[in-house]
Amino acid sequence: MEQGTWGEAIPLRRGRGVGGGVVAVAGLPPNLGWHVTLFEEAPVIRVALGWMTHRHDCTLRGITERCHGGCCYARGGTYWPARVDPGPDGACAALGPTGCRLGADRPLCCKLYPLTMSKAGVLGRHWRTTLGTSCCAGNADHPDGPPTYVALESTFREILEPGEYERLVDAAMSGRRGAMTLRVRPGVLEALAEDDRARDADTWPSYLAAVPVRIT
Ligand code: SF4
Ligand code: SF4
Repeated sequence: MEQGTWGEAIPLRRGRGVGGGVVAVAGLPPNLGWHVTLFEEAPVIRVALGWMTHRHDCTLRGITERCHGGCCYARGGTYWPARVDPGPDGACAALGPTGCRLGADRPLCCKLYPLTMSKAGVLGRHWRTTLGTSCCAGNADHPDGPPTYVALESTFREILEPGEYERLVDAAMSGRRGAMTLRVRPGVLEALAEDDRARDADTWPSYLAAVPVRIT
């Protein structure tokens, strides 16, 4: 990874990569540099490094002791996709007695939560999860929880190109901050866009069309 000096902000958004390196911004310490990588025409996302080292007890222990899978409940119509067709208790139509029945087919936003994409196109922790009344119910920043990059390792490995998760971990552990650009596998950007569309339309994403969501 190259390190250089560049005094200008680089307008990268979720999309196709165009820039490169760990770029030190004039006047800021090195760990506040911008993380960009040269991947011409490669699909990329940006990830907020600062959140990656925050602990989040999204583990079996955290779920059974505290949140009870709170993000799988509509919570008054706030949470998608749970709000599309919730049960009487607000439970997502796909929620079974031992967790999500969709398994690996569940929406990408479910695999990423508590991370969400900001309006600026950077993947970071959903602000709501730190509230005592949030669905995570104290799992955010719980001292027993793993760092977020560990808690979401399987999701990151699923969406990132080979070697990119290791780059993310190295950067997060180095204490660097800022948004890091990472190459994603084919179809990831399309799935994120479809989640956005389906969330706005209060429907299930179209890539689940062949999957039986509710078993009656
Ligand atoms: S699809 Fe699965 S993971 Fe997503 S909210 Fe429903 S039960 Fe939870
Ligand atoms: S994201 Fe939050 S609410 Fe959902 S399972 Fe993990 S800790 Fe629980």
